[in-house]
Amino acid sequence: MKRIVLASDNRHKIKEFREILADYEILALKDVGFNDEIVEDGKTFLENALIKAKAVKVFLDNKNIDAYIIADDSGLCVNSLNGEPGIYSARYAGEHGNNDANRKKLLDNLRDKEDRSAYFNCTLVLLKNDGSYDHFDGKTYGEILTAEEGNRDFCFDCLFYSSDLKKSFGVATAEEKNSVSHRARAIEQLKKYLQNDEKF
Ligand code: IMP
Repeated sequence: MKRIVLASDNRHKIKEFREILADYEILALKDVGFNDEIVEDGKTFLENALIKAKAVKVFLDNKNIDAYIIADDSGLCVNSLNGEPGIYSARYAGEHGNNDANRKKLLDNLRDKEDRSAYFNCTLVLLKNDGSYDHFDGKTYGEILTAEEGNRDFCFDCLFYSSDLKKSFGVATAEEKNSVSHRARAIEQLKKYLQNDEKF
């Protein structure tokens, strides 16, 4: 089975990648022994995804592990906030991963805005063993609600009303969300690309 290293240890992501790319062996960072912290100080989703992929490539090269690498970076972009929180989604309110504070800041910043349209973006990088790379962008569109609705586990889900599903991601099932999500859309593009990649 063809092997791909996913530059993540997030179990939700690993599951989603394994489900959609079922023809490939998807290894997570812990599967290859990578424990270093990666500083994502890029200015765009693409730069951050590339930083992650390249850090993993250096590690794999040192261990003589020959594999394709995929890395993603995602976030919520709100049109009336000039694309904020964007690449800063996980640390919008300062502290990394403080979901309550991130959602509160978003609602506060949107209080006087009429336009609440927004989208999630996922940028996926495929870094090949020869050092070349390609990238794929997946987007999903909707509106920011005025109050939280449904499951609060995954940061902005309970504030995002999906135009495709006609309900918030907070009340959608995992299957429903995966059928329209930014990440699934980017992974589907990657899947098509891999199927046509003769070198792989
Ligand atoms: P990551 O790059 O996938 O780790 O995502 C960065 C941040 O973007 C997360 O910490 C969330 O704040 C936000 N985000 C990305 N995708 C989603 C989603 O599907 N639902 C809710 N928040 C998301």
